[in-house]
Amino acid sequence: MKKWLLKSLGLVVCLIGFIGFIKPAETAQAAEKTYTIGTDVTFPPFEFANDQNEYVGIDMDLIRAIAKDQGFKVQIKPLGFNAAVQALDSGQIDGVIAGMSITDERKAKFDFSKSYFQSGVVMAVAQNSKITKLSQLKGQRVAVKTGTAGADYANSIKAKYGFKVVTFDDSNNMYQDVTTGNSVACFEDSPVMQYGIKQGTKLKIVTEPAEKGDYGFAVKKGQNKELLAAFNTGLTNLRANGQYKKITEKYLGATNTKKTESRTFIGLIKQNGSALWDGFKETIWLTLVSIIFATIFGIIVGLLGVAPNKFSKGLSSTLIYIFRGMPLLVLALFIYTGVPSLTGNKIPAFVAGIITLTLNEGAYTAAFVKGGIEAVDNGQMEAARSLGLPYGKSMRKVILPQGIRIMVPSFINQFIITLKDTSILSVIGLLELTQTGKIIIARNLEGFKVWTIIALTYLVLITLLTWLSNWVQRRMNA
Ligand code: GLN
Repeated sequence: MKKWLLKSLGLVVCLIGFIGFIKPAETAQAAEKTYTIGTDVTFPPFEFANDQNEYVGIDMDLIRAIAKDQGFKVQIKPLGFNAAVQALDSGQIDGVIAGMSITDERKAKFDFSKSYFQSGVVMAVAQNSKITKLSQLKGQRVAVKTGTAGADYANSIKAKYGFKVVTFDDSNNMYQDVTTGNSVACFEDSPVMQYGIKQGTKLKIVTEPAEKGDYGFAVKKGQNKELLAAFNTGLTNLRANGQYKKITEKYLGATNTKKTESRTFIGLIKQNGSALWDGFKETIWLTLVSIIFATIFGIIVGLLGVAPNKFSKGLSSTLIYIFRGMPLLVLALFIYTGVPSLTGNKIPAFVAGIITLTLNEGAYTAAFVKGGIEAVDNGQMEAARSLGLPYGKSMRKVILPQGIRIMVPSFINQFIITLKDTSILSVIGLLELTQTGKIIIARNLEGFKVWTIIALTYLVLITLLTWLSNWVQRRMNA
């Protein structure tokens, strides 16, 4: 048994090395220092994906121009506003530029650059709405975006005006809740709302900007001091040489740059083909690597659960209890943002995703591996042992071959679930299929068509995976 365990552990170590090898992008280091900068998924004109799915906008152009001016490199991570702020707080990323308002509360946790833009919070309602004042919100539903200054503002006045707040993770979903009539209003930063309306969002602004304030680039308090200093110097240089003006005018001066993108299914696939393909590849990688690790982890924990030893049985039950019992989303956030804030060490999103799936899917695997072995008649083990075979050998040669047959359908089931669960990892900013879909929709608002394309892609993948698993099952039974 021990030898068997050692071999398995050896295999896990090799596989970790293998992942390091196949994911060089996560660790790529250039001669110039590379900083990882978190940003919002969609906050035009500050950050958004253009027709080529490149990240552009005032924030993006500014940080790239400053990086060039100051001789550093940036790796942009479109995490979503709240996720980016959380990732910065836990030290997973080096900085955030996301139209982030400089507030006293945030200053307790982050160091901000000098202001690079002025903003305020406005209320927007549907185009045909009669609401023009806060006092008309009594008893109504109002949409806000998680963790934003707009949300704080709404929460601070909701008791006074008697409205209910509903929260969304990105601006686009928040607007949609108002355009569909589920909420009567939303609170958004004024330049963003103005730009969105100019671009065709079917809302209108009805209040003057409140909570006026500044946008700043943020780093974690007391850290990345040289990055903050470089940002400030770069900003001053850009203002002096006219580049700052050029960048802001490029986005704010533009009148309706209405999309020329094709809106047919084929057109959308063609237009977003390369982004979808990248998302597809990431989903496959996540699935395959997680399946391998979860299966190894699950088999080890499952075997521990049937070993004739109280301690290993207890360990197995505890692991299954914890990781099967925890929602995948909570586990992903715990590993990606919770653990690093405790240990101070970064965990790349891909690795955090693999660990999450390994633990969760592995716990399910362990449970059915245990069940499969227990389903083999007790007499089999007794017979093998009475023939003089040691425990490990009896397990391997007699019990497992029978147990595995019982487990195969559960394995296939678990592989399919793993594939589907990769979509939850979009919350930690992994650019897999679901996150890719969110970003495309944030730009073109074609929710129905893009989600149909994404859903069909998952179905194709699941069909392929099922075929492959069934083929393996037939070979095993042959
Ligand atoms: N300016 C707002 C804030 O800092 C919203 C930022 C955003 O949604 N990206 O909270």
